[in-house]
Amino acid sequence: MTTSETERVNAAVQRLRRAGLRNTAARRGVLDQLAHAVGGRGHLTVNELYRALLARGVAVELSTVHRVLRQLVELGIAHTVPVGRTTTFGLADDAHHHAVCGTCGDMRQLPAEAVAASVAAARAVGIDTELSGQAGGVVVYGRCARCLTAAG
Ligand SMILES: [Zn+2]
Ligand SMILES: [Zn+2]
Repeated sequence: MTTSETERVNAAVQRLRRAGLRNTAARRGVLDQLAHAVGGRGHLTVNELYRALLARGVAVELSTVHRVLRQLVELGIAHTVPVGRTTTFGLADDAHHHAVCGTCGDMRQLPAEAVAASVAAARAVGIDTELSGQAGGVVVYGRCARCLTAAG
């Protein structure tokens, strides 16, 4: 955990407390993993989170991970982005959008200003993509360099 990861987790824990939710090992573990993911792909699937928690020695049920994520999304602490048939979860504290490789599911975060024109265009046709925390805003699907190379 880097300092900024710890700060993000602490801020999220404060928001949980204000919502009357205790800082359980499962909640803390999910937040730790999501904060740690920010430096790379940014988002994790439920199964990735579940496996990571077990690997850290946090005894959780898969259903608990689902419930924790639902709470985090409801509170706007996390948001979701669909990749293929799975849903990925990421911290929503830092306003961002997403570029996703539709082949391997790799993902990078895009700064809000990079897709400002898309957000404005969507609003002009009546769709508000302002990041409410529920949905991951603008998602650009494509193929990453590795998958393009593999496809020859
Ligand atoms: Zn995200
Ligand atoms: Zn790829």
